Amino acid sequence: MQTHQYDVVIVGAGGAGMRAALESSARVRTAVISKLFPTRSHTGAAQGGMCAALANVEEDNWEWHTFDTVKGGDYLVDQDAAEVMAKEAIDAVLDLEKMGLPFNRTPEGRIDQRRFGGHTRNHGEAAVRRSCYAADRTGHMILQTLYQQCVKNDVEFFNEFYVLDLLVDHDLATGDVPEGEEVNASGVVAYELATGEIHVFQAKAVVFATGGAGKIYKTTSNAHTLTGDGMALAYRRGIPLEDMEFFQFHPTGLAGLGILLSEAARGEGGILRNSEGERFMERYAPTIKDLAPRDIVARSMANEVREGRGAGPNKDYVLLDLTHLEPAHIDAKLPDITEFARTYLGIEPYTEPVPVYPTAHYAMGGIPTNIEGEVLRNATDVIKGLYAAGEVACVSVHGSNRLGTNSLLDINVFGKRAGKAAAAYAATAPFVELPPNPATRVEAELETIRTRPDGDRVADIRRALQETMDANAQVFRTSESLTQALDDIKALRKRYGAVSVQDKTRTFNTDLLEAVELGFLLDIAETVVVGALNREESRGGHFREDFPDRDDSRFMQHTMAYRRPVAAGAADVAVPGSDAAFRRAEAFDGYQVVLGAKPVTVTRYQPMERKY
Ligand SMILES: Cc1cc2nc3c(=O)[nH]c(=O)nc-3n(C[C@H](O)[C@H](O)[C@H](O)COP(=O)(O)OP(=O)(O)OC[C@H]3O[C@@H](n4cnc5c(N)ncnc54)[C@H](O)[C@@H]3O)c2cc1C
Repeated sequence: MQTHQYDVVIVGAGGAGMRAALESSARVRTAVISKLFPTRSHTGAAQGGMCAALANVEEDNWEWHTFDTVKGGDYLVDQDAAEVMAKEAIDAVLDLEKMGLPFNRTPEGRIDQRRFGGHTRNHGEAAVRRSCYAADRTGHMILQTLYQQCVKNDVEFFNEFYVLDLLVDHDLATGDVPEGEEVNASGVVAYELATGEIHVFQAKAVVFATGGAGKIYKTTSNAHTLTGDGMALAYRRGIPLEDMEFFQFHPTGLAGLGILLSEAARGEGGILRNSEGERFMERYAPTIKDLAPRDIVARSMANEVREGRGAGPNKDYVLLDLTHLEPAHIDAKLPDITEFARTYLGIEPYTEPVPVYPTAHYAMGGIPTNIEGEVLRNATDVIKGLYAAGEVACVSVHGSNRLGTNSLLDINVFGKRAGKAAAAYAATAPFVELPPNPATRVEAELETIRTRPDGDRVADIRRALQETMDANAQVFRTSESLTQALDDIKALRKRYGAVSVQDKTRTFNTDLLEAVELGFLLDIAETVVVGALNREESRGGHFREDFPDRDDSRFMQHTMAYRRPVAAGAADVAVPGSDAAFRRAEAFDGYQVVLGAKPVTVTRYQPMERKY
């Protein structure tokens, strides 16, 4: 075992992690730990763009952007956070431009902008051009640009190191940390893929920037590595996860595959059609049609299929029509995604419409933070020295449904803020003592799995999990389907207790790491389903057929899911900030998931009915 000491340790080298690293490394000794080589992070797969009210091509301002974000999130957005993001968006784009990011340009040489779902002029009047982009490779350019800057600034990377535990001085999951007791982060434990060696990193401040968890679903746009590690590690230490029931299904995944075709396709003029050739979004969102927010478009598509107007031999998808666009325009603005259609479906988008269907895309929920990126242990109190930013976090700027291009923005704005705050804290704070034998828990877990002679296969349990999530916790949900998912997850947890791997070696054992990641997926899935069962309303990305309306009287609150020891019942578990609608406890083997509430911050915009 090796030990290291840094002022700030950042876990994750995607956009959020590297943006944080640029701030932090300029001030204090900083290490970035990443299970992937930095430029392989999922940020690099982002296509469509990053929004900011630059008003380069049309009138626009940050106040309209704030409003669109709040309305897009179906009013579950914390409005103070959305306002910060929309205001700081402009500098976030200009920062990247100064770092050398090759944005597409207008003929006058300004950063070009295009339309994206839910971004409007004057509070919903018409779609506005707000997304800055580099063809359909915006995330790739962001990641490369940030990595170059990190190299230039001598940021220290530990690549292909998997963080498998968060170290704190009081483990909230034990349930016996008194309210008001200060809780401090003291570091992380990581596993080095190449050698199998364990590394303990002591740090004054830890920043989680580990990205999303799309792999709980089978049909997803997310990379294989998006297994919710950071969320699960926090949750296992008793830190709540916020709003996990809200998962975004992106309308245009390649049918049957889930590979993403960016919303930029519709931003550039693409149209969705059903088997009758009808532009059906005119019925669901008469004003902005195909550029309605993703939750609405995904649900409308699923509904067309349900009502028998799906295309194809099994009538199980709809069509994205780009055939009316000039091939030269497609080549200039959408080169990669049209190539995906050719490669994976054998479709020529110049002349044929592309089969598409919703695909699991983005976790709106995550580790709760305030606008400085500090992690919350309940509705109000922070954990000292712990920060989170990017898709792993819930600030909450996306509420119950994120607008397209707001995530590349989120990772830049809140990555920067978290990096700054962590460095400022570490500049004066002392190191917190590590717990005795900090690596024992991780070593024991890894050895148990690695040496188990035989048992259940990782791939079998993972497939079963993904299938039940696709079948029962997708675009449409009911009490019945969610109960089925919950029962399945409980059964899969039992099987996971006997999981084994075929590779018994200690070096480059990705088999072993996939087993550990499967444990994270089960944690995340359970919070999604328990939260979804409890939320007896429909809002944003969470649609309950048995409760089709939004219910602000009971549910205009964030969900906080806490892992706690087995106790007598929900009412006996003290959850600060919880109220009646959220008093729910779900027993699992050896622990329970307890739900509490957190108020939504409303500043300028009172909740209204959401129409487009
Ligand atoms: C196909 C696709 C297209 C998208 N297009 C857009 C778009 O056009 N516009 C937009 O705004 N958003 C888009 N998004 C969403 C957006 O790209 C992501 O939400 C965002 O990039 C996430 O950034 P991140 O830094 O939080 O995480 P990531 O970029 O996913 O990085 C996570 C990092 O954490 C590390 N990590 C994870 N677990 C561990 C661990 N246990 N130990 C050590 N390291 C770990 C990984 O190595 C990685 O470096 C898209 C997403 C997808 C999947």
